[in-house]
Amino acid sequence: MDSKAQLQDCQSIQEVLDRASSFLEQNRQETYIARWLLRERFDISQMDIILNKKRLTPENLSQLEEDLEQAAEDYPVQYIVGHSWFYGRSFKVDERVLIPRPETEEMVDLILKNHDSSNQDVLDIGTGSGVIAVSLMAERPCWNVTASDISQGALDLAAKNARNLDTHLNFVKSDLFNNLKDQKYDLIVSNPPYISPEEWDIMGHSVRKYEPKLALFAESNGLAVYEKLARELPFHLNKKGQVYLEIGYTQGSSVRRVMQEAFPGARVEIIQDLAAKDRIIHVEL
Ligand code: GLN
Repeated sequence: MDSKAQLQDCQSIQEVLDRASSFLEQNRQETYIARWLLRERFDISQMDIILNKKRLTPENLSQLEEDLEQAAEDYPVQYIVGHSWFYGRSFKVDERVLIPRPETEEMVDLILKNHDSSNQDVLDIGTGSGVIAVSLMAERPCWNVTASDISQGALDLAAKNARNLDTHLNFVKSDLFNNLKDQKYDLIVSNPPYISPEEWDIMGHSVRKYEPKLALFAESNGLAVYEKLARELPFHLNKKGQVYLEIGYTQGSSVRRVMQEAFPGARVEIIQDLAAKDRIIHVEL
C-alpha cells in the first residue's frame, strides 16, 4: 500500500478526487474527507469539479498529499485544515481545544431564542475555542460576556477567535469558579466534560488520540463536573439567573437530580437535540 496518495500527475480535479478517495478507502477512512479537504483548503466546490476549470498547482497537490497522510492516521479534518464551522462562523481549532460539535450549536440557538438583546452578564465556563461565548457575543453585541477556561492554550485560541470575529469579551483563566470568587451573572452556560470512564474506553480512536481529554472526560459516571458546578453555581447567579449546560444523552435524570438539589424550587428542564436525545439542561431561578 502506498503511504502517499500520489496526486502530482492528475489531469483533472475529478481525477484528484478519485485518487484521494481511493487512498482514503485503502486506509479505512471516509471518502467524504477528500471533498472536505478540496473545499476547505482550496475553495473547490462540487460545481468546480464538474466544470473542470480550476487547476491545482503542484504545491497544492503536495499539500493535499500531506493532508491525506494525516487523515489516514485518523487525524481529525478540522485539525488538519485548522478551523471548524460553528453557528455560521469559522473558528480556529487545534489540539488544545475540542472540535465543536453540532449539538452545541443547538444550545446557542436555544439561548438566543430565550433571551433577547436586553443587557445580560454572561459567563461561559470551559470555553475551549470560544465557540459558545463568541457566537453569543456576535449575535447579542450589547451583552457582557466572560469566557473562562482552566487551559491557557484554550484561552489564547479563544482570544484569537474573538479577535478574528470582531467580538470583545473578557477572558479569565479559572478552574470553574476559583478565580471568579465574587462574580455574579445573569446567564451561566457551559459545555463541560461529561464522557464517563466507560464511554471513554469505547470512543473513536481519533477522538481519544487527538482531542483534549481534559475537555471530554469526567469521573463519577461523567457527572463529576456537574456535581462541582452545582455546589458553586448558586453563589454566582443574579436574581432570576439562568443556567444552560450541555449534557450527555444518558445523563438527563441524574443531572436534573443534581441541579434540583442545588436549586430547590427552581424550574429545571431537559431539552432534547435534533436526534431526540437529552442534550441540554436549563435551570431558571
Ligand atoms: N459531545 C461530545 C462528544 O460526544 C462531548 C463533549 C463534552 O464532553 N463536553 O464527543
